[in-house]
Amino acid sequence: MTGRISREFIDELLVRVDIVDLIDSRVPLKKTGSNYVARCPFHTEKSPSFSVNRNKQFFHCFGCGASGNAISFLMDFGHLSFVEAVEDLAAFAGVAVQMDLAGKEHIKSAEQSLKKLYLLMEQVAGYYVDELRKNASAINYLKSRQVKGEVARDFLLGYAPDKWDGLASQFDQKLLIDAGMLVVKDDGKVYDRFRNRIMYPIRDKRSRIVGFGGRVLDDSLPKYLNSPETPLFHKGKEVYGLYELLAKNPKPQRILIVEGYMDVIALAQYGINYSVAALGTAASHAHLDLLFRFASELVFCFDGDKAGREAAWKAMDAMFSSLKDGRSCRIMLLPEQHDPDSLIRSEGVDSFIDRVESAQVLSDYFYEHVSRGLNLNEMEARAQLIAKVKPYIEKLQESTFKELMSARLKDLSGVKKVAALENIKFNKELSNRKSIGQEINRLSSSRVAIALLLQNPGLAYLVEKLEIDWAGIEFGGVNLFKDIQRLILEKKILNSAVLLEYYRDLPEEKVVKALAVLDLHVEEDKIDDVFSDALNGLLKQAREVEIMRLQVKAQKEGLNNEEQALLVDMLVGK
Ligand SMILES: [Zn+2]
Repeated sequence: MTGRISREFIDELLVRVDIVDLIDSRVPLKKTGSNYVARCPFHTEKSPSFSVNRNKQFFHCFGCGASGNAISFLMDFGHLSFVEAVEDLAAFAGVAVQMDLAGKEHIKSAEQSLKKLYLLMEQVAGYYVDELRKNASAINYLKSRQVKGEVARDFLLGYAPDKWDGLASQFDQKLLIDAGMLVVKDDGKVYDRFRNRIMYPIRDKRSRIVGFGGRVLDDSLPKYLNSPETPLFHKGKEVYGLYELLAKNPKPQRILIVEGYMDVIALAQYGINYSVAALGTAASHAHLDLLFRFASELVFCFDGDKAGREAAWKAMDAMFSSLKDGRSCRIMLLPEQHDPDSLIRSEGVDSFIDRVESAQVLSDYFYEHVSRGLNLNEMEARAQLIAKVKPYIEKLQESTFKELMSARLKDLSGVKKVAALENIKFNKELSNRKSIGQEINRLSSSRVAIALLLQNPGLAYLVEKLEIDWAGIEFGGVNLFKDIQRLILEKKILNSAVLLEYYRDLPEEKVVKALAVLDLHVEEDKIDDVFSDALNGLLKQAREVEIMRLQVKAQKEGLNNEEQALLVDMLVGK
């Protein structure tokens, strides 16, 4: 489905569905106290640390830190995109998804023109397949690469004839231009983008053809040519071979990421049906997130030469941004002078599969790479190591993996406290039930206030009654606090899961989620008091700080009218 799902619909849906029923239908839950527990579906464990809270409509795992509302659960559990998860949740609730009213007409016409483009691409692919049958040199080329008929059919391989108007003479030119299949010259004349090439249709995971890759039959340049970005095709998001992979194997144990289409095809020849290729770009964060929906392990295959090792290093960014507990990446460097095809031919399939399965895990590869050439007996080298590693660790989501990566850095560098990594310790304490009792005293009032507000949205009405004058009030998290307060009143939110939904994909999401599941051990009838105390403490402190600042400024350089008024107000208010 394209277009925007209506916000109100999502809010209503989250209120209508009970997360306990939803999760229980996928992972049987057991009731203990006010929570429902199970062994975590997102990591392997012997005793249950996965709990679902009916009041808050959240789930949270104390083992791996997974948490969220019903939509997050479906996304993680079913490897779904946001829209797919909302669709599934609506189906669970027995209601139809509602789209934004304002955009409906617009969406309808956009959908129709997309439909036309998909249909065109289908027809173009058929045309290329027919042309392949007629062209001896193209068939010979595929034979020389030992491509079997069955594989050619699975991947819908075709041939673009050596003509300037092969497509232009057959199909609607306007549509061909929109689909990126024609090149438009300055004088407005058009010609076929792909000529005398083996054609590889690129299908999205719903089997629709979104673009093409084309390879020359000889040594002419460019060797590979891809469709340009079009309404259908976004090369940063699509990978080649995913549809074909899922058709053979809907639940692959791992996915192998290779360099080009010919590698994917060559591997399929030998029965290795779990490879995909990025399309003329390095694998991006979006690519990896897409692939991780279908397999928990990704193996990156790179050439063993210098360019291959550089490409491997470049891919680290995307890997670190996508990793979390339950996901793993491995790096496989091919021997120099080999591509997957030539390697299988010289070593055999079994030995190739061995290489895939025993590929180096990311953590080992990473630390080997960053410490190469450094003499870690020297202080300078250890400082250099920290500087190199820190930005990568910061990219990782809060997870046991992140903690382990930081622990390894601390071991290697001999530095026990690395400033930028200390927040990890905090999060570890958050997820550790036993230490929470002691931690709460050390938690700042602002965390307590925000956490309580998130967990009990009704408190916003209590704040409203206080008629707080926010001018000059500054404390850590004040903007977040005000934002949550505003959201609750504006959208009339009474459910934490709905509130959480508003922070999806925003920079604050991580902290909001952590605070939403923070167990404060406050008894039901004490919530109002604890919250008021925390908030009043914060306001008092903030006012004192501001008064002091204004008084110092008054002595030093004087105050403007506005500041004077503020100071008077604050002194009186005090
Ligand atoms: Zn878990």
